Amino acid sequence: MTNACVDVSPTEMIYMTYDGNFEMRCDAKILHTQAVEVEGDAADSDAQTVHVYLDRTVLHAQGGGQPTDIGTMKIETGASTVAVQVEKVTMDRSTGVALHRGKVMQSTAEAEDGVHASIDDVKVGDKVHVEVDADNRQILSECHTAGHVVDSAMARCGSVLPPSKAYHFLDGPYVEYKGKIPAEERNALLAKLKVAFQELVEEDICTKIAVLSKSDAEAVCNRVAENYFNMEDFDDDNVRIVTVAGWPCPCGGTHVRSTGNLKERKWGVTGLKCKKGVVRVKYGKDC
Ligand SMILES: [Zn+2]
Repeated sequence: MTNACVDVSPTEMIYMTYDGNFEMRCDAKILHTQAVEVEGDAADSDAQTVHVYLDRTVLHAQGGGQPTDIGTMKIETGASTVAVQVEKVTMDRSTGVALHRGKVMQSTAEAEDGVHASIDDVKVGDKVHVEVDADNRQILSECHTAGHVVDSAMARCGSVLPPSKAYHFLDGPYVEYKGKIPAEERNALLAKLKVAFQELVEEDICTKIAVLSKSDAEAVCNRVAENYFNMEDFDDDNVRIVTVAGWPCPCGGTHVRSTGNLKERKWGVTGLKCKKGVVRVKYGKDC
């Protein structure tokens, strides 16, 4: 099942603005719901899997190398409240519609009474209270922000290479660039990157988020290196530019307020690999 078969308006992704990036809850309205069969769900399981479409959400949709947010939705149906544990949010980039996949939760009292909250009770327009799992969001935002700090550290070390891929999952995050580093220079660059990353954390540099026209975004992001980003890759007229550790780039993820927020969990650069014209800088926490 894809989002494409559901004809609803684009979802307002609250975290795209600077203030919205730090909102952990919001009220929204139901646009559409679907009960879905998921392989692996026991037939007699109480936990019904559902797809929920809202007019707005605080939950980050998986993408741009950053994992999905998880959280909860409490849907007021009038007669009852249906609670949904959200497991994954995905975004259909062609329509701008976010899909929340989750499981309907049963309260203990309801289960004992034989009463089941049902997604069938939910109507279009019902009010929904959406809440992010804040602890999970915090560590994912730190992980993602640390990836930006790697970009800035690369620039500080004089290695401005075009970024090609980012992986901000907790099981081994890294950032990749197109280019080559001579074998004899790699150890020295890794040592310099580790130092530059920690300097940027110590400098406690504030994160900025702005939505700019493509030409302004071009001027801001490609000032340091020509064609570092190709703005033609973006469909919309405006591009969200996030500046972390003084280094601006187009980004759709969630971030912490300042590089100083990466200190507590000791984020840092952990490795450097070069292969087939790709430079991979690995990073992590507990450095
Ligand atoms: Zn970002």
